[in-house]
Amino acid sequence: MPPIAAGPEIERLIQLLARLPGLGPRSARRAALFLIKKRELIMAPLAAALQTAIEKIEVCRICGNIDTQNPCTVCTDPKRDGAALVVVADVADLWALERAHAINARYHVLGGTLSPLDGIGPDDLSIDALIKRASAPEVTEVILALSATVDGQSTAHYITDLLHEAQEKGQLKVTRLAHGVPVGGELDYLDEGTLAAAIRSRTPF
Ligand code: ZN
Repeated sequence: MPPIAAGPEIERLIQLLARLPGLGPRSARRAALFLIKKRELIMAPLAAALQTAIEKIEVCRICGNIDTQNPCTVCTDPKRDGAALVVVADVADLWALERAHAINARYHVLGGTLSPLDGIGPDDLSIDALIKRASAPEVTEVILALSATVDGQSTAHYITDLLHEAQEKGQLKVTRLAHGVPVGGELDYLDEGTLAAAIRSRTPF
């Protein structure tokens, strides 16, 4: 145990900050010191914002997004294309796609991916609710925006199998994100798997 340089309140603040993703003990100390120095300017508004978040933030009962209204802003936005349903593993993925202004559709958050090693099966994810939503007449496309990892892709296959019947009848198109060269990426630096996927998913110029 290193010697303690501050009172228990400050140590507790540092310990809590150190639990945040991306912050280790050293950066947690720096963050705590920064907050303490900017007590009025940053710390007090941050504490108030955290309190509001605790009181108001809910998980959307339709899509699984996190928002201060339920159903969430995306689900209640009348300008969204209700025909396409973008399936993501996590709220972070939904927010990433929204930041990219990639698509003006609705979402479905699974709450993770299938992972036998971690003991995560279909019942642990919001898959039943997705199949129900996908069967609505206005939905014509399910876009599987899942990670290009073994777990992400096995989850995509599992969902595709469940939607097989609707696809056969021609009522529903199931698509997935393209795999390939990232924007600004140099071919020489790519791994073989990505290069092979990019060649396989080539598109007309
Ligand atoms: Zn929602």
